[in-house]
Parts: sequence; C-alpha cells; structure tokens
Amino acid sequence: MLETKNSGRGQPAAASTDYGIGARTLSFLHEQRLEPTPANYSLGYIYLTERKSLAARAVDLILIGGERLDQKRAHQITADHVRAGSADGPDQQSAIRHQTLQLSEIAAGATAITGKFNRDLSSGLTALDEGADITAIVRSMVERSRESEAALASASRQIETLRREVETAKGDAARDALTGLHNRRGVEVEVRALPARADSSLVICDIDHFKSINDRYGHVVGDRVLKLVASSLAKSCHPHLVARWGGEEFIILLNGLSPKDAAMIVDKARLDLSERDVRLRATDKPMGAITFSAGVAALNARPFDDAVSEADALLYQAKAAGRNRVSV
Ligand code: GH3
Ligand code: MG
Ligand code: MG
Repeated sequence: MLETKNSGRGQPAAASTDYGIGARTLSFLHEQRLEPTPANYSLGYIYLTERKSLAARAVDLILIGGERLDQKRAHQITADHVRAGSADGPDQQSAIRHQTLQLSEIAAGATAITGKFNRDLSSGLTALDEGADITAIVRSMVERSRESEAALASASRQIETLRREVETAKGDAARDALTGLHNRRGVEVEVRALPARADSSLVICDIDHFKSINDRYGHVVGDRVLKLVASSLAKSCHPHLVARWGGEEFIILLNGLSPKDAAMIVDKARLDLSERDVRLRATDKPMGAITFSAGVAALNARPFDDAVSEADALLYQAKAAGRNRVSV
C-alpha cells in the first residue's frame, strides 16, 4: 500500500525497457547447457547486449568453431571481462591483454577444429557415389564449412593484430611491457646497430607446453612464469641480449660467439631454469619443471631474417625430438 503512493521509487519501468532480454539470456544459457547462475547470466547478458565487447567476440568464436560454451571458458571470459571493466591502470591493461590472448587462443582452437571438420567432410564426400542426391547436399555443406573456415582464419588474423597492438599500446615501443626485456622492434634496432662480424649467433627459445600452464592455472600465473623465464634467461646469458620475441618465445643475440659456443651458454640457461623450484604463489604447491626448447643459428653478416628462419627450423626440430633441448 505504501508503495503505491511513492511515485519515485517502485514505479513501473518505462515502456522502452526490454524485459525480453531476460528471457533471451536464459534461453541462451539453456542452449549452452549452462546453469542460470548470476555469473553465467551476466555473461549471457553481455553476449546479447554488448556485441562489440571482447567477451562477446570470444563467445562467438567458440560458437562459430562449432563448440558449446562450457563452464570453464564461460568463467574465464566473464572474469577477464569484469576485471577489464573494473580495474584501471596496469591492472586494466593486463585484463585487456588477457582478453585478447584468450580470443586468439579460442580462434586458434576453432580454426583447427573447423579445418579438421572440413577435411573429414571432404574425404567423406569422395567416398560417396557420384550422382547420388546426398552428394549435392554434402557438397554444399563442404562449401559452407569452407566459408566459415575462411571467416575464422580472417578473424584469427585480425585478433592477432589486435593482440600485438594491445601489447605495444603502452610504454616504450622498444621494450616489452610484461618482462621489461627488449621486444621484437627493440631487437631489430639492436641488430641494425651491430657491427657485421664473423662470429655472432642468434637463438630462439620457446617455452615447452606453455599453453597448458595457462589452461591449468590461468593467464595471471602464465604471465608470472613468462617473467620468471625472462629474468632467468637474462641472468644465465648475461651480458648477451635477451629479448621477448613474442608470446612465449625469446630471442638471444650472442655477439662474438660461434653457434657451438652460443649453444653451450643456452643449454646452461636451460638447465638453470629447469632446476628451479617453481611454486604456485597461492598454495605453495610445486608447478613442476619449466623448460624450453631452442634453435641456434649463425648470424654473422647474413640477413637477420635468414638467421631467424634457420633458428626457427632448428627450434622446430628440438620440439619434435622431445622438447627441453637445444638444436644447433
Ligand atoms: P610447445 O611446447 O609446442 O611450444 O607448446 P606450447 O603450449 O608452448 O605452444 P602453443 O603455441 O600451443 O601455446 C603458446 C601459448 O602462449 C598460447 C598463448 O595464449 C600463450 N601466450 C602468449 N603470450 C602470452 C602472454 O603474454 N601471457 C600469457 N599468460 N600467455 C601467453
Ligand atoms: Mg611458441
Ligand atoms: Mg611453446
């Protein structure tokens, strides 16, 4: 009774309020077989109303990839969205960075799945009898799924660019904001300044199974591991230049050393890192050894890009041979 007289609060909402959004959000959760918890409801609501948010794009990518939004990813996407919205300064930077990172991970996963689906479909098609009605249907399915693969690939490229931009958006253009090391641009500047000399080597290191660290403990812990690897490498390879090449890859320039000598230093750096007792800050539980694989190439006077390609190929060999090793 009291409320009816109080015309300010308790008033029926304006006619323009879209109450249907509640039902649409719940039906979205139902389709995804997610429980209607407050957190899931917010994600569904964001997905339907903030179409341009990174969170909505992440959900889209999962759905385009033909997957369902599971609880674990729903949770991660919501957490990053909330952090990006509420934090400010460096925290907001890192939340946004994690959101873009997550987008690129989802895009990579979705592309892989769609690609496999296409191949399965195509091989199924060749197994079918020509002329049968079903062939035409399957053919159009293949066509459609090829289109979605192309759309995904282009989305992935855009996301990767976005991610790079976010990473370099703040601070020194030649430094990596997370680790404080030189970044790709910084290395290129250093290389141009390097005197062309006979003995110089270039190493690319890539952390082993780093994605599983992110998957198990989240991006914040992943970032800490990146910082640890950065400082450990810089210490073990001092005074040589250690830089972040991108993602979980580092590059080392060893001036005055042949690839063989450079490899000895890097192998020692690999041992130093793998022997560290790395623990989770929250629980003090050991995380297991952190290792990397590396490829070592001669730089000398040849074009930088050639040396990078060779180091990359050698790194690939080290991975294929079982990881946690250095290839020269
Ligand atoms: P491999 O042993 O073959 O190298 O496996 P991997 O899991 O290390 O390689 P993959 O390329 O599959 O995964 C690299 C991961 O690194 C995926 C990406 O999200 C993550 N990553 C890249 N940059 C960052 C970052 O700045 N922070 C965090 N936390 N993760 C990052
Ligand atoms: Mg890598
Ligand atoms: Mg790796």
